[in-house]
Amino acid sequence: MPITFDFTDKVVFITGAGSGIGRATAEAFAAAGADVAVTDTTDEPLRETARLVEAYGRRAFVALCDVTDGRSIEDAVTAAGDTLGPIDIAVNNAGIEQPPTPLAETSEDEFDRLMAVDLRGVFLSMKYEVLAMGERGGSIVNISSGAGVVGIKGQAAYAAAKHGILGMAKSAALDYAAQGIQINAICPGIIETPMMDRFSGGTPEGRARVIAQEPIGRMGTTEEIASAVLWLSSDLGGFAVGHALVVDGGQTIGIS
Ligand code: NAP
Repeated sequence: MPITFDFTDKVVFITGAGSGIGRATAEAFAAAGADVAVTDTTDEPLRETARLVEAYGRRAFVALCDVTDGRSIEDAVTAAGDTLGPIDIAVNNAGIEQPPTPLAETSEDEFDRLMAVDLRGVFLSMKYEVLAMGERGGSIVNISSGAGVVGIKGQAAYAAAKHGILGMAKSAALDYAAQGIQINAICPGIIETPMMDRFSGGTPEGRARVIAQEPIGRMGTTEEIASAVLWLSSDLGGFAVGHALVVDGGQTIGIS
């Protein structure tokens, strides 16, 4: 039996969709037939993502939305549903990186900011998505990280947030599995995105340093993460519940 992803007329809601993994995921869903609500904090990159969705003949809805602000997310979820129809799938992807810093040199403000965006943002997003999905059910995929499954030197605050996403996703999956809302997470390795450019410095030396963490010897692509999101959200992924799917080129499997 050929296996294809068909999301015809499904409605997808994505945070952090103006860049990197979020944009690629929006495109992948549109290519598979979905209408996509793209949300982020900056207007112009979002409009470009919307143009990419529309290029597949699908509808895009654009909303400025800061995931640290519950009202902002609630409004975006409501407006997306009013415009495109009830949300079937949500992808909580918005996140920020931590420049490498040992724990004691991490400022309280930076810790709070990472928690606000990377952990509280996922909590608030799931909260309003679950309320919007209600008894219709749906699928929610949260983007964690390799730093969600192992510790990484210089990444204590980021790893705390990304580990937190997994505990929250597994617990919420139990809260809502019987209601037909399937909640999972993905843990990407080193993926070629603007975030990774900032993290590595974008120089040949910086890129080589992060690629050295990857047994596979290269960075992953945004499409390699988007395809995992589509699988988890598809009927074929319907038996995965509370799963933390590691897609990381071998980064976290052991010591090499
Ligand atoms: P990216 O290119 O920087 O994209 C992240 C997007 O999130 C940006 O468009 C950013 O918007 C948005 N964002 C930041 N703060 C936000 C907020 N408060 N509210 C709403 N949107 C906000 O990063 P990426 O590499 O695609 O990362 C996407 C997700 O994957 C993140 O959660 C990241 O932690 C995770 N991840 C990435 C990698 C990797 O190697 N790239 C590895 C593991 C996990 P602005 O640009 O306007 O701030």
